[in-house]
Amino acid sequence: MIVKTDQAEIQNYLKDASNTKGFCDAVYFPENANDIINILKQANENKIAVTVCGNRTGLTGASVPKGGIVLSTEKLNKIIEINEKEKYAIVEPGVLLADFLKELKSYSLYYPPDPTELNCFIGGTVATNASGAKTFKYGSTRDFILGLEIILPTGELINIIRGKNLADGNILHVSTESNKSYKLKIPDINIALSKNAAGYFCKENMDVIDLFIGSEGTLGIFKRIKLKLLQAPVKVLSSVIFFNSEENGLNFIIDAREKSYSTRQSKKIIAIDVLALEYFDKNSLELLREDYPNIPVNTESAVWFEQELNDESGDQLTELWLELIGKHDGNINDSWIAMNDKDKSEFEKFRHAISAKVNEFISSHNYRKLGTDFAVPDNQLKDFYSQIKNAVSKTGLSFVIYGHFGNSHIHLNMLPKNDNELEVAKKLYNDICYFAIKIGGTFSAEHGVGKNKTELLYRMYGEQVVKEMFEIKKTFDPNLVLCYGNIFNPSLG
Ligand SMILES: Cc1cc2nc3c(=O)[nH]c(=O)nc-3n(C[C@H](O)[C@H](O)[C@H](O)COP(=O)(O)OP(=O)(O)OC[C@H]3O[C@@H](n4cnc5c(N)ncnc54)[C@H](O)[C@@H]3O)c2cc1C
Repeated sequence: MIVKTDQAEIQNYLKDASNTKGFCDAVYFPENANDIINILKQANENKIAVTVCGNRTGLTGASVPKGGIVLSTEKLNKIIEINEKEKYAIVEPGVLLADFLKELKSYSLYYPPDPTELNCFIGGTVATNASGAKTFKYGSTRDFILGLEIILPTGELINIIRGKNLADGNILHVSTESNKSYKLKIPDINIALSKNAAGYFCKENMDVIDLFIGSEGTLGIFKRIKLKLLQAPVKVLSSVIFFNSEENGLNFIIDAREKSYSTRQSKKIIAIDVLALEYFDKNSLELLREDYPNIPVNTESAVWFEQELNDESGDQLTELWLELIGKHDGNINDSWIAMNDKDKSEFEKFRHAISAKVNEFISSHNYRKLGTDFAVPDNQLKDFYSQIKNAVSKTGLSFVIYGHFGNSHIHLNMLPKNDNELEVAKKLYNDICYFAIKIGGTFSAEHGVGKNKTELLYRMYGEQVVKEMFEIKKTFDPNLVLCYGNIFNPSLG
Protein backbone atom coordinates (compact mmCIF):
# COMPACT_ATOMS: atom_id res chain seq x y z
CA MET A 1 0.00 0.00 0.00
CA ILE A 2 1.28 3.46 -0.87
CA VAL A 3 1.60 5.95 2.00
CA LYS A 4 2.53 9.57 1.28
CA THR A 5 3.94 11.84 3.98
CA ASP A 6 5.64 14.53 1.90
CA GLN A 7 3.49 17.63 2.53
CA ALA A 8 4.11 18.95 -0.98
CA GLU A 9 2.67 15.73 -2.41
CA ILE A 10 -0.45 15.64 -0.22
CA GLN A 11 -1.67 19.23 -0.58
CA ASN A 12 -4.67 18.17 -2.70
CA TYR A 13 -5.92 15.96 0.13
CA LEU A 14 -6.10 18.90 2.53
CA LYS A 15 -9.11 20.69 1.04
CA ASP A 16 -12.42 20.04 -0.70
CA ALA A 17 -14.53 21.94 -3.26
CA SER A 18 -15.84 24.31 -0.55
CA ASN A 19 -12.23 25.52 -0.12
CA THR A 20 -12.25 24.29 3.50
CA LYS A 21 -8.65 23.64 4.46
CA GLY A 22 -7.05 21.15 6.86
CA PHE A 23 -3.86 19.31 7.78
CA CYS A 24 -2.67 15.74 8.33
CA ASP A 25 0.48 13.66 8.80
CA ALA A 26 0.03 11.16 5.96
CA VAL A 27 -2.28 9.92 3.21
CA TYR A 28 -2.85 6.14 2.92
CA PHE A 29 -3.99 4.51 -0.33
CA PRO A 30 -5.48 1.09 0.58
CA GLU A 31 -5.81 -1.40 -2.27
CA ASN A 32 -8.10 -3.92 -0.58
CA ALA A 33 -10.29 -4.50 2.48
CA ASN A 34 -7.40 -5.87 4.56
CA ASP A 35 -5.44 -2.65 4.09
CA ILE A 36 -8.43 -0.68 5.40
CA ILE A 37 -8.92 -3.04 8.35
CA ASN A 38 -5.23 -2.75 9.29
CA ILE A 39 -5.32 1.05 9.10
CA LEU A 40 -8.41 1.18 11.34
CA LYS A 41 -7.02 -1.31 13.87
CA GLN A 42 -3.80 0.71 14.16
CA ALA A 43 -5.78 3.91 14.45
CA ASN A 44 -7.82 2.47 17.34
CA GLU A 45 -4.75 1.17 19.14
CA ASN A 46 -2.92 4.49 18.82
CA LYS A 47 -5.95 6.81 18.95
CA ILE A 48 -5.20 8.35 15.56
CA ALA A 49 -7.88 10.26 13.67
CA VAL A 50 -8.73 8.85 10.22
CA THR A 51 -10.53 10.91 7.59
CA VAL A 52 -11.83 8.89 4.65
CA CYS A 53 -12.02 10.74 1.36
CA GLY A 54 -13.51 10.18 -2.05
CA ASN A 55 -12.66 12.66 -4.80
CA ARG A 56 -13.07 15.69 -2.49
CA THR A 57 -15.83 17.39 -4.46
CA GLY A 58 -17.88 17.71 -1.27
CA LEU A 59 -19.03 21.17 -0.20
CA THR A 60 -18.98 20.94 3.61
CA GLY A 61 -15.40 20.10 4.58
CA ALA A 62 -16.38 16.47 5.34
CA SER A 63 -13.38 14.92 3.59
CA VAL A 64 -10.95 17.52 4.95
CA PRO A 65 -8.68 16.21 7.75
CA LYS A 66 -8.10 18.11 10.97
CA GLY A 67 -5.01 16.12 11.94
CA GLY A 68 -4.23 12.37 11.92
CA ILE A 69 -4.27 10.60 8.57
CA VAL A 70 -6.34 10.56 5.40
CA LEU A 71 -7.55 7.28 3.90
CA SER A 72 -8.07 7.80 0.18
CA THR A 73 -10.38 5.35 -1.61
CA GLU A 74 -8.98 6.14 -5.06
CA LYS A 75 -7.27 2.76 -5.60
CA LEU A 76 -10.53 0.91 -4.90
CA ASN A 77 -11.90 1.74 -8.30
CA LYS A 78 -13.21 -1.43 -9.95
CA ILE A 79 -16.62 -1.89 -11.50
CA ILE A 80 -17.13 -5.47 -10.38
CA GLU A 81 -20.35 -6.35 -12.19
CA ILE A 82 -23.01 -4.78 -14.37
CA ASN A 83 -26.00 -7.07 -14.66
CA GLU A 84 -28.14 -5.96 -17.58
CA LYS A 85 -30.85 -8.55 -17.08
CA GLU A 86 -31.44 -7.93 -13.39
CA LYS A 87 -30.50 -4.24 -13.66
CA TYR A 88 -27.95 -3.80 -10.94
CA ALA A 89 -24.24 -3.01 -10.65
CA ILE A 90 -21.65 -3.82 -7.99
CA VAL A 91 -18.81 -1.33 -7.64
CA GLU A 92 -15.94 -0.42 -5.39
CA PRO A 93 -16.25 2.98 -3.69
CA GLY A 94 -13.54 4.76 -5.68
CA VAL A 95 -15.24 4.35 -9.08
CA LEU A 96 -15.58 7.79 -10.65
CA LEU A 97 -19.26 8.52 -11.28
CA ALA A 98 -18.51 9.94 -14.76
CA ASP A 99 -16.72 6.68 -15.73
CA PHE A 100 -19.58 4.58 -14.38
CA LEU A 101 -22.20 6.54 -16.36
CA LYS A 102 -20.11 6.22 -19.51
CA GLU A 103 -19.82 2.47 -19.02
CA LEU A 104 -23.60 2.15 -18.55
CA LYS A 105 -24.24 3.70 -21.97
CA SER A 106 -23.02 0.54 -23.70
CA TYR A 107 -25.69 -1.42 -21.76
CA SER A 108 -28.64 0.95 -22.37
CA LEU A 109 -28.91 1.25 -18.63
CA TYR A 110 -29.46 4.31 -16.54
CA TYR A 111 -28.41 5.52 -13.06
CA PRO A 112 -30.40 8.71 -12.40
CA PRO A 113 -29.26 10.11 -9.03
CA ASP A 114 -26.13 11.89 -10.22
CA PRO A 115 -25.23 15.13 -8.47
CA THR A 116 -24.44 18.01 -10.82
CA GLU A 117 -20.75 17.21 -10.30
CA LEU A 118 -19.76 13.92 -12.00
CA ASN A 119 -16.14 14.08 -10.92
CA CYS A 120 -17.01 12.39 -7.61
CA PHE A 121 -16.60 8.79 -6.44
CA ILE A 122 -19.63 6.59 -5.97
CA GLY A 123 -18.55 5.96 -2.35
CA GLY A 124 -18.67 9.72 -1.72
CA THR A 125 -22.14 9.99 -3.21
CA VAL A 126 -23.42 7.20 -0.94
CA ALA A 127 -21.76 8.77 2.12
CA THR A 128 -23.47 12.11 1.37
CA ASN A 129 -26.67 10.63 -0.09
CA ALA A 130 -26.02 12.89 -3.07
CA SER A 131 -28.87 14.01 -5.24
CA GLY A 132 -29.21 16.11 -8.34
CA ALA A 133 -31.45 17.34 -11.10
CA LYS A 134 -33.20 13.99 -11.67
CA THR A 135 -33.99 13.64 -7.97
CA PHE A 136 -37.26 15.42 -8.68
CA LYS A 137 -38.53 12.27 -10.36
CA TYR A 138 -36.31 9.48 -9.05
CA GLY A 139 -35.17 10.46 -5.55
CA SER A 140 -31.64 10.59 -4.20
CA THR A 141 -28.75 8.11 -4.12
CA ARG A 142 -30.48 6.35 -1.18
CA ASP A 143 -33.26 5.16 -3.51
CA PHE A 144 -30.70 3.33 -5.66
CA ILE A 145 -28.67 1.51 -3.01
CA LEU A 146 -29.50 -2.20 -2.83
CA GLY A 147 -26.56 -3.38 -0.73
CA LEU A 148 -23.49 -2.19 1.14
CA GLU A 149 -20.42 -3.99 2.42
CA ILE A 150 -19.02 -1.83 5.18
CA ILE A 151 -15.90 -1.83 7.35
CA LEU A 152 -16.86 -0.38 10.73
CA PRO A 153 -14.50 2.05 12.51
CA THR A 154 -13.26 -0.85 14.69
CA GLY A 155 -12.29 -2.87 11.59
CA GLU A 156 -15.26 -5.28 11.80
CA LEU A 157 -17.24 -6.11 8.66
CA ILE A 158 -20.94 -5.86 8.00
CA ASN A 159 -22.84 -6.81 4.90
CA ILE A 160 -26.24 -5.19 4.45
CA ILE A 161 -28.85 -6.11 1.86
CA ARG A 162 -31.78 -3.73 1.51
CA GLY A 163 -34.99 -5.18 2.91
CA LYS A 164 -33.32 -7.81 5.12
CA ASN A 165 -32.98 -5.89 8.39
CA LEU A 166 -35.64 -3.43 9.49
CA ALA A 167 -35.91 -1.62 12.82
CA ASP A 168 -38.53 -2.69 15.29
CA GLY A 169 -40.04 0.75 15.92
CA ASN A 170 -37.06 2.78 17.09
CA ILE A 171 -34.76 -0.14 17.85
CA LEU A 172 -32.24 -1.45 15.34
CA HIS A 173 -30.05 -4.54 15.71
CA VAL A 174 -26.91 -4.81 13.59
CA SER A 175 -24.74 -7.94 13.41
CA THR A 176 -21.19 -8.08 12.10
CA GLU A 177 -19.73 -10.90 9.98
CA SER A 178 -18.08 -12.19 13.16
CA ASN A 179 -21.48 -12.25 14.91
CA LYS A 180 -20.92 -9.30 17.17
CA SER A 181 -24.23 -7.61 17.79
CA TYR A 182 -25.08 -3.92 18.25
CA LYS A 183 -28.36 -2.52 19.53
CA LEU A 184 -29.19 1.06 18.51
CA LYS A 185 -31.93 3.48 19.48
CA ILE A 186 -33.09 5.62 16.58
CA PRO A 187 -34.03 9.20 17.49
CA ASP A 188 -37.57 10.28 16.84
CA ILE A 189 -37.56 12.76 13.94
CA ASN A 190 -40.46 13.88 11.85
CA ILE A 191 -39.38 15.78 8.73
CA ALA A 192 -41.82 16.00 5.83
CA LEU A 193 -39.55 17.19 3.02
CA SER A 194 -38.67 15.61 -0.30
CA LYS A 195 -34.96 16.23 0.40
CA ASN A 196 -33.04 16.31 3.65
CA ALA A 197 -29.37 15.42 4.23
CA ALA A 198 -29.00 16.83 7.75
CA GLY A 199 -27.58 14.21 10.12
CA TYR A 200 -28.41 10.50 10.17
CA PHE A 201 -31.52 9.20 8.42
CA CYS A 202 -33.89 8.30 11.26
CA LYS A 203 -37.36 6.86 10.89
CA GLU A 204 -39.54 4.33 12.67
CA ASN A 205 -39.18 0.80 11.24
CA MET A 206 -36.40 2.02 8.94
CA ASP A 207 -34.04 -0.20 6.98
CA VAL A 208 -30.60 -0.42 8.59
CA ILE A 209 -28.98 0.35 5.24
CA ASP A 210 -30.46 3.87 5.38
CA LEU A 211 -28.58 4.67 8.58
CA PHE A 212 -25.27 4.25 6.76
CA ILE A 213 -26.30 6.08 3.57
CA GLY A 214 -25.61 9.78 4.19
CA SER A 215 -23.54 9.11 7.33
CA GLU A 216 -20.62 11.18 5.95
CA GLY A 217 -17.90 8.65 6.79
CA THR A 218 -18.73 8.65 10.51
CA LEU A 219 -20.12 5.10 10.83
CA GLY A 220 -17.88 3.07 8.53
CA ILE A 221 -16.13 2.81 5.18
CA PHE A 222 -18.03 1.37 2.22
CA LYS A 223 -15.95 -1.23 0.45
CA ARG A 224 -18.56 -2.53 -2.02
CA ILE A 225 -21.78 -0.97 -3.20
CA LYS A 226 -24.69 -2.61 -5.03
CA LEU A 227 -26.66 -0.12 -7.12
CA LYS A 228 -30.10 -0.38 -8.67
CA LEU A 229 -30.24 0.53 -12.38
CA LEU A 230 -33.08 1.44 -14.71
CA GLN A 231 -33.67 0.92 -18.41
CA ALA A 232 -32.37 4.02 -20.20
CA PRO A 233 -35.17 6.20 -21.65
CA VAL A 234 -35.66 6.15 -25.42
CA LYS A 235 -35.25 9.92 -25.60
CA VAL A 236 -35.20 12.92 -23.29
CA LEU A 237 -36.76 16.29 -24.07
CA SER A 238 -34.39 18.91 -22.68
CA SER A 239 -34.78 22.66 -22.79
CA VAL A 240 -33.59 25.90 -21.20
CA ILE A 241 -36.43 28.45 -21.19
CA PHE A 242 -35.78 32.15 -20.54
CA PHE A 243 -38.31 34.44 -18.86
CA ASN A 244 -38.66 38.22 -18.72
CA SER A 245 -39.61 38.15 -15.03
CA GLU A 246 -38.74 36.07 -11.99
CA GLU A 247 -42.40 35.62 -11.19
CA ASN A 248 -43.01 33.90 -14.54
CA GLY A 249 -40.05 31.56 -14.10
CA LEU A 250 -41.17 30.57 -10.60
CA ASN A 251 -44.80 30.12 -11.64
CA PHE A 252 -43.69 27.94 -14.55
CA ILE A 253 -41.81 25.69 -12.11
CA ILE A 254 -44.71 25.45 -9.69
CA ASP A 255 -47.17 24.68 -12.49
CA ALA A 256 -44.90 22.03 -14.07
CA ARG A 257 -44.31 20.49 -10.66
CA GLU A 258 -48.03 20.26 -9.82
CA LYS A 259 -48.80 18.79 -13.22
CA SER A 260 -46.07 16.20 -12.70
CA TYR A 261 -47.39 15.19 -9.28
CA SER A 262 -50.83 14.78 -10.75
CA THR A 263 -49.45 12.70 -13.67
CA ARG A 264 -47.66 10.42 -11.22
CA GLN A 265 -50.92 9.85 -9.35
CA SER A 266 -53.08 9.31 -12.40
CA LYS A 267 -50.35 7.27 -14.18
CA LYS A 268 -51.26 8.98 -17.48
CA ILE A 269 -48.79 8.08 -20.22
CA ILE A 270 -48.81 11.27 -22.26
CA ALA A 271 -48.75 14.14 -19.79
CA ILE A 272 -46.25 16.49 -18.20
CA ASP A 273 -44.01 14.43 -15.93
CA VAL A 274 -40.78 16.27 -15.22
CA LEU A 275 -37.44 14.59 -14.77
CA ALA A 276 -35.49 17.76 -13.83
CA LEU A 277 -36.67 21.28 -12.98
CA GLU A 278 -33.84 23.71 -12.27
CA TYR A 279 -33.94 27.49 -11.74
CA PHE A 280 -31.40 30.27 -12.49
CA ASP A 281 -31.87 33.87 -11.32
CA LYS A 282 -30.75 36.91 -13.30
CA ASN A 283 -27.42 37.18 -11.41
CA SER A 284 -26.60 33.55 -12.20
CA LEU A 285 -27.29 34.23 -15.89
CA GLU A 286 -25.10 37.35 -15.80
CA LEU A 287 -22.25 35.34 -14.24
CA LEU A 288 -22.65 32.73 -16.98
CA ARG A 289 -22.92 35.23 -19.82
CA GLU A 290 -19.15 35.48 -20.26
CA ASP A 291 -19.11 31.81 -21.32
CA TYR A 292 -22.62 31.77 -22.80
CA PRO A 293 -23.07 34.99 -24.83
CA ASN A 294 -26.21 33.47 -26.35
CA ILE A 295 -28.18 34.04 -23.14
CA PRO A 296 -30.85 36.51 -24.33
CA VAL A 297 -30.54 40.10 -23.05
CA ASN A 298 -33.23 41.41 -20.65
CA THR A 299 -33.68 37.94 -19.19
CA GLU A 300 -34.72 37.88 -15.53
CA SER A 301 -34.76 34.13 -14.93
CA ALA A 302 -34.36 30.77 -16.68
CA VAL A 303 -35.54 27.21 -16.12
CA TRP A 304 -33.87 24.07 -17.39
CA PHE A 305 -36.28 21.15 -17.59
CA GLU A 306 -36.13 17.59 -18.86
CA GLN A 307 -38.76 14.97 -19.53
CA GLU A 308 -38.33 11.38 -20.69
CA LEU A 309 -40.08 10.48 -23.95
CA ASN A 310 -40.98 7.23 -25.62
CA ASP A 311 -41.35 6.57 -29.34
CA GLU A 312 -45.00 7.60 -29.47
CA SER A 313 -45.19 10.47 -26.99
CA GLY A 314 -42.70 12.95 -28.52
CA ASP A 315 -44.90 15.27 -30.59
CA GLN A 316 -47.83 15.41 -28.19
CA LEU A 317 -45.60 16.09 -25.22
CA THR A 318 -43.74 18.83 -27.03
CA GLU A 319 -47.13 20.46 -27.67
CA LEU A 320 -48.04 20.26 -23.98
CA TRP A 321 -44.76 21.87 -22.99
CA LEU A 322 -45.11 24.66 -25.56
CA GLU A 323 -48.55 25.38 -24.15
CA LEU A 324 -47.16 25.60 -20.60
CA ILE A 325 -44.26 27.81 -21.67
CA GLY A 326 -46.72 30.10 -23.49
CA LYS A 327 -49.01 30.25 -20.44
CA HIS A 328 -46.11 31.65 -18.36
CA ASP A 329 -44.79 33.99 -21.07
CA GLY A 330 -41.58 32.05 -21.64
CA ASN A 331 -39.39 33.54 -24.32
CA ILE A 332 -39.82 30.61 -26.69
CA ASN A 333 -38.03 32.15 -29.69
CA ASP A 334 -34.77 32.68 -27.83
CA SER A 335 -34.95 29.61 -25.62
CA TRP A 336 -32.75 26.57 -26.13
CA ILE A 337 -34.23 23.23 -27.12
CA ALA A 338 -31.97 20.20 -27.42
CA MET A 339 -32.12 18.64 -30.85
CA ASN A 340 -29.72 15.80 -30.06
CA ASP A 341 -27.69 14.18 -27.26
CA LYS A 342 -24.88 16.68 -27.73
CA ASP A 343 -27.20 19.64 -27.07
CA LYS A 344 -28.68 17.82 -24.08
CA SER A 345 -25.27 17.32 -22.53
CA GLU A 346 -24.45 21.02 -23.25
CA PHE A 347 -27.45 21.98 -21.07
CA GLU A 348 -26.18 19.69 -18.30
CA LYS A 349 -22.83 21.48 -18.59
CA PHE A 350 -24.61 24.84 -18.42
CA ARG A 351 -26.18 23.80 -15.10
CA HIS A 352 -22.83 22.52 -13.80
CA ALA A 353 -21.10 25.73 -14.94
CA ILE A 354 -22.95 27.96 -12.47
CA SER A 355 -21.91 25.83 -9.45
CA ALA A 356 -18.35 25.60 -10.77
CA LYS A 357 -18.16 29.40 -11.39
CA VAL A 358 -19.22 30.10 -7.82
CA ASN A 359 -16.61 27.68 -6.45
CA GLU A 360 -13.95 29.32 -8.66
CA PHE A 361 -14.89 32.77 -7.40
CA ILE A 362 -14.69 31.65 -3.77
CA SER A 363 -11.30 29.96 -4.27
CA SER A 364 -9.90 32.95 -6.13
CA HIS A 365 -10.72 35.14 -3.10
CA ASN A 366 -9.38 32.44 -0.77
CA TYR A 367 -12.63 32.28 1.21
CA ARG A 368 -14.69 29.30 2.26
CA LYS A 369 -17.89 28.74 0.27
CA LEU A 370 -20.96 30.49 1.68
CA GLY A 371 -23.59 28.67 -0.30
CA THR A 372 -26.88 27.69 1.21
CA ASP A 373 -28.31 24.25 0.62
CA PHE A 374 -31.73 24.63 2.14
CA ALA A 375 -35.03 23.14 1.09
CA VAL A 376 -38.38 24.39 2.32
CA PRO A 377 -41.91 22.97 2.16
CA ASP A 378 -43.27 23.26 -1.41
CA ASN A 379 -46.03 25.72 -0.45
CA GLN A 380 -43.41 28.15 0.95
CA LEU A 381 -41.09 28.26 -2.06
CA LYS A 382 -42.16 31.57 -3.61
CA ASP A 383 -42.51 33.55 -0.37
CA PHE A 384 -39.28 32.18 0.99
CA TYR A 385 -37.46 32.99 -2.25
CA SER A 386 -38.62 36.61 -2.29
CA GLN A 387 -37.82 37.12 1.40
CA ILE A 388 -34.25 35.82 1.16
CA LYS A 389 -33.70 37.74 -2.04
CA ASN A 390 -34.83 40.98 -0.37
CA ALA A 391 -32.63 40.26 2.63
CA VAL A 392 -29.48 39.64 0.60
CA SER A 393 -30.18 42.53 -1.82
CA LYS A 394 -30.33 44.96 1.12
CA THR A 395 -26.76 44.06 2.18
CA GLY A 396 -25.26 45.15 -1.17
CA LEU A 397 -23.39 41.83 -1.44
CA SER A 398 -22.97 40.15 -4.81
CA PHE A 399 -24.94 36.91 -4.93
CA VAL A 400 -26.49 34.33 -7.21
CA ILE A 401 -29.52 32.11 -6.65
CA TYR A 402 -30.11 28.87 -8.51
CA GLY A 403 -30.95 25.27 -7.69
CA HIS A 404 -33.22 22.30 -7.73
CA PHE A 405 -36.43 24.33 -7.41
CA GLY A 406 -38.61 21.34 -8.36
CA ASN A 407 -37.70 20.08 -4.88
CA SER A 408 -37.98 23.61 -3.39
CA HIS A 409 -34.24 23.35 -2.90
CA ILE A 410 -32.37 26.65 -3.19
CA HIS A 411 -28.68 27.45 -3.51
CA LEU A 412 -28.15 31.09 -2.53
CA ASN A 413 -24.45 31.79 -2.92
CA MET A 414 -23.03 34.99 -1.51
CA LEU A 415 -19.85 36.22 -3.18
CA PRO A 416 -17.93 38.42 -0.71
CA LYS A 417 -15.03 40.40 -2.16
CA ASN A 418 -13.34 41.45 1.10
CA ASP A 419 -13.25 40.57 4.80
CA ASN A 420 -15.96 43.07 5.75
CA GLU A 421 -18.32 41.61 3.20
CA LEU A 422 -17.43 38.14 4.40
CA GLU A 423 -18.57 38.99 7.94
CA VAL A 424 -21.88 40.40 6.65
CA ALA A 425 -22.38 37.29 4.50
CA LYS A 426 -21.65 34.90 7.37
CA LYS A 427 -24.25 36.55 9.59
CA LEU A 428 -26.88 36.57 6.88
CA TYR A 429 -26.06 32.96 6.02
CA ASN A 430 -26.93 31.81 9.53
CA ASP A 431 -30.01 34.01 9.79
CA ILE A 432 -31.55 32.63 6.62
CA CYS A 433 -30.70 29.04 7.54
CA TYR A 434 -32.49 29.59 10.87
CA PHE A 435 -35.42 31.04 8.95
CA ALA A 436 -35.57 27.98 6.65
CA ILE A 437 -35.55 25.69 9.71
CA LYS A 438 -38.23 27.77 11.43
CA ILE A 439 -40.68 27.31 8.55
CA GLY A 440 -40.20 23.53 8.50
CA GLY A 441 -37.28 23.32 6.08
CA THR A 442 -33.76 21.95 6.28
CA PHE A 443 -30.40 23.75 6.15
CA SER A 444 -28.98 20.79 4.20
CA ALA A 445 -30.99 19.23 1.42
CA GLU A 446 -28.10 17.43 -0.27
CA HIS A 447 -24.56 18.43 0.73
CA GLY A 448 -24.71 17.10 4.30
CA VAL A 449 -23.40 18.67 7.49
CA GLY A 450 -19.67 17.99 7.22
CA LYS A 451 -17.49 20.07 9.50
CA ASN A 452 -18.91 23.42 8.48
CA LYS A 453 -22.59 23.15 9.42
CA THR A 454 -22.57 21.28 12.74
CA GLU A 455 -24.09 24.14 14.71
CA LEU A 456 -27.08 24.17 12.36
CA LEU A 457 -27.80 20.54 13.18
CA TYR A 458 -28.52 21.55 16.80
CA ARG A 459 -30.72 24.35 15.53
CA MET A 460 -32.73 21.98 13.38
CA TYR A 461 -33.22 19.01 15.72
CA GLY A 462 -32.40 20.27 19.23
CA GLU A 463 -29.80 18.97 21.67
CA GLN A 464 -31.54 15.71 22.62
CA VAL A 465 -31.83 14.38 19.06
CA VAL A 466 -28.21 15.29 18.24
CA LYS A 467 -27.14 13.55 21.45
CA GLU A 468 -29.02 10.41 20.43
CA MET A 469 -27.43 10.51 16.97
CA PHE A 470 -24.03 10.85 18.63
CA GLU A 471 -24.79 7.75 20.75
CA ILE A 472 -25.10 5.79 17.49
CA LYS A 473 -21.71 7.15 16.38
CA LYS A 474 -20.13 6.13 19.70
CA THR A 475 -21.63 2.64 19.56
CA PHE A 476 -19.80 1.89 16.31
CA ASP A 477 -16.75 4.07 16.99
CA PRO A 478 -15.99 4.01 20.74
CA ASN A 479 -12.59 5.67 20.28
CA LEU A 480 -14.02 8.28 17.88
CA VAL A 481 -11.31 7.63 15.28
CA LEU A 482 -13.29 7.76 12.02
CA CYS A 483 -14.26 11.11 10.50
CA TYR A 484 -14.89 12.57 13.94
CA GLY A 485 -15.78 16.23 13.42
CA ASN A 486 -18.26 15.44 10.65
CA ILE A 487 -21.91 15.93 11.66
CA PHE A 488 -20.86 16.33 15.34
CA ASN A 489 -18.68 19.22 16.41
CA PRO A 490 -16.20 17.97 19.05
CA SER A 491 -16.30 21.34 20.81
CA LEU A 492 -20.11 21.18 21.11
CA GLY A 493 -19.80 17.89 23.02
C1 LIG B 1 -19.62 22.05 -8.96
C2 LIG B 1 -20.24 21.13 -7.93
C3 LIG B 1 -21.61 20.86 -7.98
C4 LIG B 1 -22.18 19.99 -7.03
N1 LIG B 1 -23.52 19.73 -7.13
C5 LIG B 1 -24.08 18.83 -6.28
C6 LIG B 1 -25.45 18.47 -6.40
O1 LIG B 1 -26.18 18.94 -7.26
N2 LIG B 1 -25.93 17.56 -5.52
C7 LIG B 1 -25.17 16.99 -4.54
O2 LIG B 1 -25.68 16.14 -3.79
N3 LIG B 1 -23.87 17.31 -4.41
C8 LIG B 1 -23.32 18.21 -5.24
N4 LIG B 1 -21.99 18.53 -5.12
C9 LIG B 1 -21.22 17.93 -4.00
C10 LIG B 1 -20.46 16.64 -4.27
O3 LIG B 1 -20.23 16.39 -5.59
C11 LIG B 1 -20.99 15.49 -3.50
O4 LIG B 1 -21.01 15.74 -2.13
C12 LIG B 1 -20.28 14.14 -3.75
O5 LIG B 1 -21.29 13.23 -3.50
C13 LIG B 1 -19.06 13.78 -2.87
O6 LIG B 1 -18.30 12.76 -3.51
P1 LIG B 1 -16.70 12.72 -3.38
O7 LIG B 1 -16.21 11.44 -3.96
O8 LIG B 1 -16.10 13.95 -3.90
O9 LIG B 1 -16.54 12.63 -1.80
P2 LIG B 1 -15.70 13.52 -0.80
O10 LIG B 1 -16.02 14.95 -0.94
O11 LIG B 1 -14.27 13.15 -0.88
O12 LIG B 1 -16.29 12.99 0.59
C14 LIG B 1 -17.61 13.28 0.96
C15 LIG B 1 -17.96 12.45 2.22
O13 LIG B 1 -18.00 11.09 1.90
C16 LIG B 1 -17.20 10.33 2.81
N5 LIG B 1 -16.73 9.16 2.05
C17 LIG B 1 -16.11 9.16 0.84
N6 LIG B 1 -15.89 7.89 0.45
C18 LIG B 1 -16.37 7.08 1.42
C19 LIG B 1 -16.44 5.67 1.60
N7 LIG B 1 -15.96 4.80 0.70
N8 LIG B 1 -17.01 5.19 2.73
C20 LIG B 1 -17.52 6.03 3.67
N9 LIG B 1 -17.47 7.37 3.56
C21 LIG B 1 -16.91 7.89 2.44
C22 LIG B 1 -16.13 11.31 3.26
O14 LIG B 1 -15.62 10.96 4.53
C23 LIG B 1 -16.94 12.59 3.35
O15 LIG B 1 -17.64 12.59 4.57
C24 LIG B 1 -21.38 19.41 -6.02
C25 LIG B 1 -20.02 19.68 -5.98
C26 LIG B 1 -19.45 20.54 -6.91
C27 LIG B 1 -17.98 20.79 -6.84
